[in-house]
Parts: sequence; C-alpha cells; structure tokens
Amino acid sequence: MTLLQSFQAYPALFVTAVTVLSLAIGSFLNVVIHRLPKMLERQWRDELAELNGQETATAPRYNLMLPRSQCPGCGHQISALENVPVVSYLALRGKCAACKTRISPRYPLVEALTGALSGFIAWRYGFSWHTLAALVFVWAMIALAFIDLDTFYLPDDITLPLVWAGLLVNMGGVFVDLQSAVIGAIAGYLALWAVFWSYKLATGKDGMGYGDFKLLAAIGAWLGWKMLPVVILLSSFVGAIVGVSLIVFARHGRNVPIPFGPYLVLAGLIALFWGEPLLQYYLKNL
Ligand SMILES: [Zn+2]
Repeated sequence: MTLLQSFQAYPALFVTAVTVLSLAIGSFLNVVIHRLPKMLERQWRDELAELNGQETATAPRYNLMLPRSQCPGCGHQISALENVPVVSYLALRGKCAACKTRISPRYPLVEALTGALSGFIAWRYGFSWHTLAALVFVWAMIALAFIDLDTFYLPDDITLPLVWAGLLVNMGGVFVDLQSAVIGAIAGYLALWAVFWSYKLATGKDGMGYGDFKLLAAIGAWLGWKMLPVVILLSSFVGAIVGVSLIVFARHGRNVPIPFGPYLVLAGLIALFWGEPLLQYYLKNL
C-alpha cells in the first residue's frame, strides 16, 4: 500500500500526519509574521533612499530563511532541537536555553492553532483537494491576522496572491463556481471600499485600511459572494463586542485604532467551516 492509499484507507492516519506537518508550518508562519513586515520596511527604506539619490546601506541579509533564528536576549542561535513546535517551548519552560530570557507564549500558540485548525480541516474534508486548498487558505489567514495585530497592516504580498489563488482554486469549483468567486472578489473589495469612503466623508477619519478591502476580496474569491454578508455581519459583530470591551475593561482609548483584519479572518474561518448552515439560517429567519 502506498502512502497515499494509506491516507485514503485510514482517515485517522491522515489527520495525524496533517496535524504534525502543520505544527511545522505554524513554526514557519511565526517567522513570516515576525519577519515579513521588517523585510518590507527595509525594502521601502531602500526604495525611498534610491528615489532621493542616496546610497542604499548594504545591510546584512534578512529574509525568511536567513539569518537563523536567535534569542533576542543573548543572540544564542536556536538549534533544531530547541525549534520543535510546541514541544521545545514546553521542555524549555518558555525560556531561552542559554540566558533564560522568557520566550513569548505566542510562538507555541500560533503553532498549536495552526496544527489544530489544519487537523480539523483534514478530519472534516478527508483526503481531498478540498482539504489541500482549505489548508493554504487557513495558513495565509493566520499569518495575516497576526501581522495585522502587530503592525496594523495587511501586506499585499499575502492578500493579492490569496485573491488569485482563490480564483484559481475555484476554476476547478473546489469551494464555489468560478462566477461566484469572481463576483465575490470584486464585491468584497467594493463593499469595504464603500464603507471606507462613507465613513471618511461622514467623519473625516480613516476607519480601516486598503488591506482590509483586499482581504475581503480574497475571502470573496475563495468562498463566493454569497458568504460576504455573513462575513461582514460576523466581523462587525465580533469587532464591536471586542472593541467595546477593550474600551470599558482595558481602558483602551476610544481613538486608538483597533485592527479590523483579525475579525475579518475570524469571520472568514467561521464562514469556511459553517457558512452554509449560517446562510440557510439567515435566509429562513429574515
Ligand atoms: Zn538567550
């Protein structure tokens, strides 16, 4: 029996394999979340310097592969053994092996979240193209949510390829037919664009960023236009609850911006898994 046949014959084996592999993907997503914004910042600085006719500083190489991960406290290079997803963090009790500086619990959390969601997808859709596509979608969404939390920014380098990937996947009708996907991408972008300009004209303030339009375009491209009202309602609802709680309980300033991307991501994932029943419920009860 080949490996692929075993995956088909034993769903539990497939779910386990996907979960373990996805823990490693989660570890890579940590790197993307941490480094991509810094890489883009460097790129912009270099471009700006070039425009101004200045020499660009030749900084040491910095990309998703180099330099190797190291402890921010002492520069200790993280060995392969200290880099096992989740397990290493627990074994080291959340501290650097060399200097005992605390390591943020967010690293193992992102790994565990990626593993759990991916395992759930493998269990839900089995050994299929649907699973492979959903995994790619969810991994990109996790990276976007955390980058937005950190930087208030959703990089085009992820949102735009995600739009094209959604259209490509649905050329084969994996989630919806191609027509629903194309309309979904356009309507997703325009819906938030319209909200943005209404809000700006009414209050003179920027309520959200262009990255949010592109993210909703990507969700529309993957899940089809019918899911857009579900996603917009869910994200606004959760966003409003969290926003008000932050202001009331955490004394978060009323005018301090809250990134909208993580709510779109959360709503997009709910729509991916439970969009159909939610939509049926709305249609029946409204
Ligand atoms: Zn250290």
